[in-house]
Amino acid sequence: MIVTEQNELNLTYKICLFGDSGVGKTSIVNRYLTNNFLTNIKSTLGAAIYIKYVELDKGKATLQVWDFGGEEKFKFLISSYAQGASGGIFMFDLTNYDSLINVINWHPEFSKVARRVPLILVGGKLDLEQQRICRREDALDIKNLYEFQNYIECSSKTGENVDLVFKDLLMKILSAQGYAQIKLI
Ligand code: GDP
Ligand code: MG
Repeated sequence: MIVTEQNELNLTYKICLFGDSGVGKTSIVNRYLTNNFLTNIKSTLGAAIYIKYVELDKGKATLQVWDFGGEEKFKFLISSYAQGASGGIFMFDLTNYDSLINVINWHPEFSKVARRVPLILVGGKLDLEQQRICRREDALDIKNLYEFQNYIECSSKTGENVDLVFKDLLMKILSAQGYAQIKLI
């Protein structure tokens, strides 16, 4: 944490996106960052890092959103990718039941290094109502089993609930770090 001369907070948090390939991780981050896209670094691990500035009532937060581009066969890399994360988003595709169940593969790898950080479960492609397979109750069972702090359904295509995902996670991170009184603008 850095406090500037004006006593303003300048917080930086690393947020990791993980989940099966094709569930919509890159799409959600692109939707969230529209007009705010600053950098897109392809690392050797196959992760892209995006930066988003968020105004707070007492300063600002810089979110580094790490989009794990790696295929499932590279999931053993997720623990090094998750190092230093302040929060995480596990994303699945509401039209793909396996992508929800595969939390079994991803979650332990992430939790190895980022224990006790706020994690949110996100069901994507909410706009594909006709193809929807995962029921809300199925997702809530996974949420409770793996102790996610919230479950949100969204669509990067329509934009529905996309901002909410990141705002909710940031609020939970702020609260976990002792800044529960800080508000987003
Ligand atoms: P990633 O591999 O998890 O990064 O997934 P992508 O973001 O590359 O998305 C995989 C495919 O799903 C692409 O064809 C996207 O256009 C599509 N997609 C992503 N999000 C949505 C969504 O909210 N609605 C619909 N209909 N398609 C989506
Ligand atoms: Mg991607």
